[in-house]
Amino acid sequence: MFGVVDSFVGHLILGTVIGVAITTIANLATTVFLHRGLSHRAITFSAPARWSFTVVLWLTTGIRVRQWVAVHRKHHAHTDTVDDPHSPAVHGWWQVQLRNYAMYRRAARDSTNVARYARDLPPTRADRVLFDHALLGLGCGIAILVMLVGPWTAAVAAIVHINYYIAASSAVNAIGHHFGRRPYANSATNLQWLALLTAGEGLHNNHHAAPTSAKLAHRWYEIDLGWLLIKPMTWMRLARVRIDGIRVAADT
Ligand SMILES: [Zn+2]
Ligand SMILES: [Zn+2]
Repeated sequence: MFGVVDSFVGHLILGTVIGVAITTIANLATTVFLHRGLSHRAITFSAPARWSFTVVLWLTTGIRVRQWVAVHRKHHAHTDTVDDPHSPAVHGWWQVQLRNYAMYRRAARDSTNVARYARDLPPTRADRVLFDHALLGLGCGIAILVMLVGPWTAAVAAIVHINYYIAASSAVNAIGHHFGRRPYANSATNLQWLALLTAGEGLHNNHHAAPTSAKLAHRWYEIDLGWLLIKPMTWMRLARVRIDGIRVAADT
């Protein structure tokens, strides 16, 4: 496939396009499944949807689902305090932007966090055999990519994807708690440009105000790509939204 591409510039262009496409898919799985679905229980999924998201995350990020959920719930429980795993109010936004990955890993590997915040997601047999092995997942993802587009385009795509995914997720925690608009009274911010890069996550002030709502866009002019995936999934009975509309928590 795509064997016609044999110039350096060709690898660069096609690899970049494919890398951006892979990150977009990974961002959708992260926001719709890991975040809105598992962490906040705003959406429930049918088995085929659950498996598809789990495999996509394993191949594109190597994230262990219960670890991500635990770190994120801890962030909501202790937002912008010293117990927040990645607070720009505590560490400075630039430190969180640069070191979010390390901050995440430290909190994710702390088994007391997982035991406390992701009690409802014990490891399954499939986790033990496959999905807990991050390097195996990423290795399979890269092998599939090499088979489809060849080693050079795959290398460019992998580099673009890793950098885009990490930078954008870090930006939600760093920039999304520092710069931007705060229509609700919480420390997170709304940034539409960041929301476009993260399938809706940049509308982070809205999310902290209404964490159990599946839709992150609260105003007609806000764009939430994640919601544009959730809607057709509900029509196809692959997903069910638990709370209709937007429920803003009492203290915001
Ligand atoms: Zn936040
Ligand atoms: Zn959240």
